[in-house]
This record gives sequence, C-alpha cells and structure tokens, in this order.
Amino acid sequence: MKKTICGEFKWDCAHRLYNVEKTKEENKKIFGKCYNIHGHTYHFFVTVSSLHFPDGSDRVDDGMIINFTELKDIVNKIIVDTQDHYLNLSFGDPILKQLLNWDLKINTMDGETTCENQVGLFWGMLEEPLKQIGCQLEKLKLYETETSFATLKND
Ligand SMILES: [Zn+2]
Repeated sequence: MKKTICGEFKWDCAHRLYNVEKTKEENKKIFGKCYNIHGHTYHFFVTVSSLHFPDGSDRVDDGMIINFTELKDIVNKIIVDTQDHYLNLSFGDPILKQLLNWDLKINTMDGETTCENQVGLFWGMLEEPLKQIGCQLEKLKLYETETSFATLKND
C-alpha cells in the first residue's frame, strides 16, 4: 500500500485542435467543432507520494507527505499561472501569425492541444520540481469537461 495526497486545481483556458501536418479541410473533418477556438474550465488533480518514505509511512516529524499549501503553491506557479485565461495552440498553427501582435496570452505546444497531450506536458513540467521538495508524482488527472478527462500514472 502506498499513501498519497491530492491537490485539486481549476482554471479557464481556450484552445483549438489542429494537426499542423494536415490541411485545413482535413483538420475540420478530423476535429469537427473542436477545430474552432473554444474554452473549457479545466479541473486538474495532482497526486503525490513521499520520496523519503516510499513504503507509505508518514514523515515522523509532521505526519505529512507534503504540506498541502506547499503543493498548491508549486502547482499554481508552474501550471495554473501559465494556463489560466491563455489560448493554447499547436506549434505551427497557421492562425498564430495573425495573433502575434495583440499581446495575448498564448501557449504553443508540440502536437495537438488535446487533454491527453496536455496532461503529458504537465507531467514533464511538474515531475522535477516536485522531486526537489521530496515528492514523487503518482498521478495526474485533467478534466476538460465534467465527463471527459485524461490521466497519467507513474507505473
Ligand atoms: Zn476543447
């Protein structure tokens, strides 16, 4: 058995799904309504265990895997502050050229901005900083809608 704790986070963000290797018409056909720029309120769950006590026992000095406040500070800084009210686009999306001079908050990423690609990106952003404070990232769960989510686990 392994003991874990989980922090929950929320933010609003826009994106569209676009594969830069395909034509406009192919993208419309593949992604349907998600070809258009639209928004979601993302719900994000970050689950961690202790690197110091992999057997699941508590830290003897304070009984915590990590202080929830410390976990929330890190995730807010690395993920929420770089996502909330941003527009996420695939690197090379042709609409980027039209938006560059508008001082908009835009993130670009390799591949399509799907829920599963984003959760992979977030894992890469969080894993090392969490290790530095003694936590092993165990699971990320990203809800794009109330009923659709992607997960990534430490197997
Ligand atoms: Zn969407």
